[in-house]
Amino acid sequence: MKIVIVGGVAGGMSCAARARRLDEAAEIVVLERGEHVSFANCGLPYYVGGEITDPGALLVQTPASLRAALDLDVRTRHDVTGLDADRKVVTVNTPDGVAELDYDALVLAPGARAVVPPIPGIDSPRVRTLRTVDDALALRDGVEAGARDAVVLGAGFIGLEAAEALAHQGLNVTIVELAPHVLPPLESELATLVTAELAALGIDVRAGVAATAIEPEGGRDAVVLADGSRVPADLIVLSVGVRPDTAAFEAAGVACERGAMLVDAHGRTSLEGVWAVGDATASVDAVTEAVRPVALAGPANRAGRLVADAILRPEQARPIPAPLGTAIVRVGSLTAALTGANRAALDAAGLEYVTLHLHPNQHAGYYPGATQIHLVVDVRAQDGLLLGAQAVGTDGVDKRIDVLATAMRGGLSVTDLIDLDLSYSPPYGQAKDPVNLAGMVGENVLNQTLRLWYAEDLDAVREETLLLDARSATEVATGAIPGALNIPHTQLRERLDEVRAAAGGRPVRVLCASGVRSAIAHRVLTQAGFDSASLSGGMLTLRATLGDRATALLAVGA
Ligand code: FAD
Repeated sequence: MKIVIVGGVAGGMSCAARARRLDEAAEIVVLERGEHVSFANCGLPYYVGGEITDPGALLVQTPASLRAALDLDVRTRHDVTGLDADRKVVTVNTPDGVAELDYDALVLAPGARAVVPPIPGIDSPRVRTLRTVDDALALRDGVEAGARDAVVLGAGFIGLEAAEALAHQGLNVTIVELAPHVLPPLESELATLVTAELAALGIDVRAGVAATAIEPEGGRDAVVLADGSRVPADLIVLSVGVRPDTAAFEAAGVACERGAMLVDAHGRTSLEGVWAVGDATASVDAVTEAVRPVALAGPANRAGRLVADAILRPEQARPIPAPLGTAIVRVGSLTAALTGANRAALDAAGLEYVTLHLHPNQHAGYYPGATQIHLVVDVRAQDGLLLGAQAVGTDGVDKRIDVLATAMRGGLSVTDLIDLDLSYSPPYGQAKDPVNLAGMVGENVLNQTLRLWYAEDLDAVREETLLLDARSATEVATGAIPGALNIPHTQLRERLDEVRAAAGGRPVRVLCASGVRSAIAHRVLTQAGFDSASLSGGMLTLRATLGDRATALLAVGA
């Protein structure tokens, strides 16, 4: 069996290594266009930022080490430009000229290319992507050559990592993002927290505006924005997204959707004897069933392994699971992570869902260092099936999102989260872990013990209901919604007549700081016969949802 693999990094090399472990007799050839194989693309930003000091650390393997350990025939600077699936050959540009190479099984793992927007000046030598070791070396060289100002185009995961890295190196960094907020897949009420952290790092965020041109100015560049402003730049990092690198294979007849190769559950493409994995393939979303590429290392690595199984032991090969898109990023002292679908994806898929907002501490509140995790969980309205979760915080975010991703992979509902037996001692968690708490809130909502209202409905709520602020007077003085009646939840039972008089038959909508005390107040009110609901996530979520509007709206010191 001769297996030829195109692309020698995440998906391709996982496939090659697994294939060797399954079959000592197979001939395994890996063709890689670039200088390096098995390099740590996810580590590149940390080299740019100076946390990884040795560029050699980014080269996880070399052709020689792969030959020694796994007897792989790894050929760098071999660019596959054509495929003839009938003759079972690929055409390769090699350092010695064009050659043909035959195969029994072909695995395409070409990954993705950076999207290059068609704006004037984008070909400036100061513009770099951050995809290869050479890109990282060039950016680091720019830093060491004295660059002062950097502009990062695109505030996705890689854009934020690049921005953080350059700020860490002391550059003035501006991020330009066309979408209304940074990390577009993150819900806006969480992205607000990330934007504040970027500001604390000294990074200037220009969201909701396009870069329209890059022009030379004073021996460097100016990035021109659609609002007319000009941002000086010694370095420009282009990270506005990626696109499957599949032109040669699509031209050869591999069926694609918007450039992403279509594969079945075992990674088989439309062409006999040709498999594909990784960023270059289309996946079916585990929650919404939308078909789109998922550019993440974990799914690419695991799919590579499963495709080797499908080729060499098809009878035992497990299907490639639909990815949840679980992802995480560090921004300064914050971590942002998400899994599954966000509300925009759920809306697009026409799914009915309930959103839960929680702000629990990551560990026991009495133990030093307790900080809040800002958690958003979406569950299917009819049965509580977990559909997505996102979190931002300084500690413990990774653990909670990974538990929730595991729960989603297991097909659990929000109520099942209550029963998860998670490890606990005060430095690590809470006896009711944030994940358990999400389950409890979700169960209460599903069985109507708790009814929620949402910050985005504030204007309608103010017009049609009595707003009841269940916080203490001291908290209210830090900022309150004008017109809200303040009765601390501890006094509510004795002051129900006051609520009844103020409501005048209108529904009552309760709020507190995070949604815990307003839930208690809601229970008191409901059992006293009021039409009541509690603000999901409380003032913390409301402030984050309102963003800049909060300052103008909230009355301070009233
Ligand atoms: P790649 O790993 O990109 O490998 C594709 C290889 O194929 C490339 O080396 C390319 O040169 C080669 N190739 C392409 N076409 C041809 C051809 N025609 N002939 C020969 N060779 C070809 N993901 C995460 O989950 N977490 C992270 O923290 C994270 N951080 C990242 C940071 C950066 C800076 C980057 C760039 C990516 C990051 N990713 C991260 C994404 C992750 O690296 C990718 O999802 C993953 O590498 C995809 O694997 P792949 O095998 O599909 O493609």
